[in-house]
Amino acid sequence: MIAIFHSLQVRLTIGFASILLIAISLVSGYSAYVTRSEIVVLRNEIETVKNIRAEELITKTYEATNDWDDVQYAAQQVGTLFGWHVIIENSKGKIVADSHNQRIGDDLKSNMFKPIYKRPIIINGKNAGWMLINDKPRHNAIIPQPVSQKIISNSKNIQNTNLEGELNNNSQRIISEVLEVVEPPLTDLQSTFQNALIIAGTTSVLAGLFIVSIFTRQSLKPVKYLTKAAKKIGSGDLNYRVKVESDDEIGQLSKTFNNMANELESLQNERRQMTANIAHELRTPLTNIRGYLEGIQDKVLKPNKENIDTLFNQTLHLNNLVDDLRVLSMIESGTLNLNLSEGDIVKIIEISAKDFYPRAKNSGVKINLELQNITTEKIYFDDTRMRQIIANLIENAFSYNSENNEITISSEISDNYYVIKIIDQGEGIPDEEINKIFHEFYRVDKSRSKKTGGVGLGLSIVKSLVEAHNGEISVSSKINSGTTFTIMLPIIS
Ligand code: ADP
Repeated sequence: MIAIFHSLQVRLTIGFASILLIAISLVSGYSAYVTRSEIVVLRNEIETVKNIRAEELITKTYEATNDWDDVQYAAQQVGTLFGWHVIIENSKGKIVADSHNQRIGDDLKSNMFKPIYKRPIIINGKNAGWMLINDKPRHNAIIPQPVSQKIISNSKNIQNTNLEGELNNNSQRIISEVLEVVEPPLTDLQSTFQNALIIAGTTSVLAGLFIVSIFTRQSLKPVKYLTKAAKKIGSGDLNYRVKVESDDEIGQLSKTFNNMANELESLQNERRQMTANIAHELRTPLTNIRGYLEGIQDKVLKPNKENIDTLFNQTLHLNNLVDDLRVLSMIESGTLNLNLSEGDIVKIIEISAKDFYPRAKNSGVKINLELQNITTEKIYFDDTRMRQIIANLIENAFSYNSENNEITISSEISDNYYVIKIIDQGEGIPDEEINKIFHEFYRVDKSRSKKTGGVGLGLSIVKSLVEAHNGEISVSSKINSGTTFTIMLPIIS
């Protein structure tokens, strides 16, 4: 049960639903309050209008006939129509009409009738009596006889037929006027309104919940995909990718996740490739050594100087390979400690180049040095590693050079960098390969390595070492024209 509340969808739904509920409750509460107040105001206004109408009815009836009997009829009309108990008192304090027909002729003071409203009956500017109203009587008023029947049955007033006719018309008119006072069933209105609010509120909450749950479900779908993808990748399925369905924040997250998965996959592929390359590079010299040793064991080969030299070269090759791998892994793991100090970079380049002079002489290659001396500028580097970098690049310039060509090593200060260039006039590197030459074990022409003895680790080590010096290395090349490697070392001001 509690686990349900850990679901983001459930929590979002509850959150939205709560906001909806609070908003609807506030709106409903406020509307109900305002309606109730307005209804009270309206009810009072209607009561006043009813009072005026009743007074008008009674006054006009008395004015028309000057007979309290007719007023009795009007009082009963009012009592029945409005549900009141109406008593009419003449100016002497005697009850002359009673909608409930109970107290006619009584003295009001001796009665227990407690009026809520008391209105004067003014005839020709004089007070002819009072109209007393109790708007919440215990009993209903007596329903009056219809006026027309009353006239016909009232034989003692035959000579007053015209007057009765007038009463009839007047009363009908006045009563119809009174009836025009529309009294809406206010209590019904209020409860209808409240019921409507409850129904509308409940429907809104339910509809809101439905919409919110669909909305959150839709919005959180990519998160589910992400979770699934993370599980898949975590369990080693690096091919798995998330479906990107939107460009919003979650869509961006999914894209970033896929990029990360791409990186992981290519890293894994590189690692696999690297292992395969190492195995391959180790196998060749080991197979050679084993072949030679088996040959000597089986006395097919003699343990003479020539064979021992071959064996020695193979172990040397193995040794270099293992050394290179060790340096690479140390750089990658950040455990290669560079002994950085302010040094004479020009001197280091000269020493590195001088190591190749005998080889240059033998192969007829000319080495040109065009180095700019540094004066106040400071360059921090590790002597041994810097020699390794320069030597490696000169070595390549020799390996991939043609005979009787030149190798130029130049340097200059540019902006805040000391820029070293190793330029050869060799075979060059094809455009499509140039970005790959810094990759481990990458060789442009696999057959060339047989000639040079390299395994494709030299440039990756050079690049890692230059970067460990906070420098940059780049290459430009043209087939059959030559290659230029450019190293930029930061000058510390
Ligand atoms: P390798 O041990 O094969 O020399 P490197 O990492 O030093 O490995 O070089 C990678 C590849 O880049 C080489 O196999 C070669 O094809 C190419 N390369 C490097 N330097 C040069 C150069 N100066 N001229 C032409 N090709 C070069």
